[in-house]
Amino acid sequence: MIIELPKHNPTGITIINEHMKIEYGTLKIRFPYSLRKSMYSLTYKIKGKHKCFYCGCEISNGKATLDHLFPQYLGGPTITDNLVPSCMVCNTRKSNMTQNQFKVFLSLSTKARKRYLNDLQANSEVIRKSGNFVLPKKWLEEKEVLLINTNSLLSKDCVYNKYRNIQEYYKKYGQFQEPLIIDKNNFLLDGFYILMYAKNHNIQKVPVITLENVEVYF
Ligand SMILES: [Zn+2]
Repeated sequence: MIIELPKHNPTGITIINEHMKIEYGTLKIRFPYSLRKSMYSLTYKIKGKHKCFYCGCEISNGKATLDHLFPQYLGGPTITDNLVPSCMVCNTRKSNMTQNQFKVFLSLSTKARKRYLNDLQANSEVIRKSGNFVLPKKWLEEKEVLLINTNSLLSKDCVYNKYRNIQEYYKKYGQFQEPLIIDKNNFLLDGFYILMYAKNHNIQKVPVITLENVEVYF
């Protein structure tokens, strides 16, 4: 997929900061990087930080949060297309709902809201057990694990919890909670532990979101 980028010079180089630049329409992120931080700062550049996407209220300086339109709970990636500035109230209220679900939720009475949330939870279990994601199909593809490159090293401090969560989820649902994110050259941007788990368990293919207009550079 092609992600949304800040306004840039289409026939040249636009410097975003010391870690990122846009060259002829491709976002270049310097290794090592934090995809999350990069996407957060790009999103604020594209969508601002003073108006809540959901309620339209004005957000005072330093109080903005970024919300995932497709929540992380449902595999929603941290990329500009999936992030919007949000006030704290809306972000907390929306919780694990998608944008459309949140719209329905807001239109309901207090009593009906509770039932709606229970139905959503049951429904997301059904979707998970069927091996699907609640994400736009055009974002997703399957990729051979062997084709994905990474330079990251395993950090012993945090590997166990993250890795165990992935293991538990995979055993329960037969799939991963979120797709991996890779750049245009199959270089891993996010999902290192999922990749490790797949490699360790001989899983040949993993769900990925390929960012066609992003490239890691060294
Ligand atoms: Zn709001």
